[in-house]
Amino acid sequence: MQLYNTLSAKERATLIEQAGKERLTISFYKYAKIENPEIFRNHLFLTWDKLDVLGRIYVAYEGINAQLSVPADNFNQFKYHLDTISFLENVRLNIAIEHDNFSFLKLKVKVRDKIVADGLNDDTFDVTNRGIHVEAEQFNELIDDPNVVLVDMRNHYESEIGHFKNAVTPDVDTFRESLDLIEADLKEHKEDKKLVMYCTGGIRCEKASAYYKHKGFKNVYQLEGGIINYVRQVEAKGLENKFIGKNFVFDERRSERISEDVIAHCHQCGEPADLHTNCANEACHLLFIQCDDCKEKMENCCSSHCQEIIQLTFEEQKALRKGQGNSNDIFKKGRADHLPYKKDLRNIFDVFKKSE
Ligand SMILES: [Zn+2]
Ligand SMILES: [Zn+2]
Repeated sequence: MQLYNTLSAKERATLIEQAGKERLTISFYKYAKIENPEIFRNHLFLTWDKLDVLGRIYVAYEGINAQLSVPADNFNQFKYHLDTISFLENVRLNIAIEHDNFSFLKLKVKVRDKIVADGLNDDTFDVTNRGIHVEAEQFNELIDDPNVVLVDMRNHYESEIGHFKNAVTPDVDTFRESLDLIEADLKEHKEDKKLVMYCTGGIRCEKASAYYKHKGFKNVYQLEGGIINYVRQVEAKGLENKFIGKNFVFDERRSERISEDVIAHCHQCGEPADLHTNCANEACHLLFIQCDDCKEKMENCCSSHCQEIIQLTFEEQKALRKGQGNSNDIFKKGRADHLPYKKDLRNIFDVFKKSE
């Protein structure tokens, strides 16, 4: 029984290209009590591998968080299988706006402690006691209310390229930091203000809303299905789009363009740009924003130091990396002192100073 991937990303990309079939990029999550995550994980892998499903899926005692690429031809079978799992019957599937057959190149189903790294102790509050879910239309009305504080629950590199107008975008590296900062800044307003939050697909708000209710906030709302679902609804119902820029996503595509506004800047020259890249130096892999000119000039590197290193042979580079540990993390925080146009606002954070 084959329970793990055997093809490399490159081999997979070739196969997808040869097949020439359309694939859908889908995400979903569900908090549910899973008695044996390992058995559940194996069941998912075996079933989905047969359907040529690819993606990154986390399974834990607390539920499942999945980002997938599914062949359009197999979608009905995939959906049928989901519906056979009691807690996933009719689960909301967020389908990506932009098509890309190469959004995922492997099927990785992993057992984790948590389905979102939240740094919280689960026993302290009830995750199911969450905020009021609002759909796009109601969300649009709600955020016009002057008594609302609209908070982006994502990290700095996500909100930097796109966010809702008038949202507070904490300059944080982790979800955990955000939770504390927002609570501290709003501690006088737990009862009078309406706290409205959003994230990419809704999963982070699921936790955050329950957490803030536990902390005494009386009016907590969350955007149902996150930005992905919001944009779908805006298109389907012809609503006003209040999201500017791009939606950062956690697959090979990196982002989806939602509006034509380019709200970020190249971290190297300061020109308008909103495309994230990873430094070409394998030992660095810093995630940062780079414009096309700098990309060419710097050969996709974050610094001249990294640029020097990529001129070395593969063996020389490997020798240099020895003992440095694995930094091959494509979503590394994206902060570096040598990037002159990466604003670091952590010390002057003020939750009521709204973003432009
Ligand atoms: Zn540039
Ligand atoms: Zn670098």
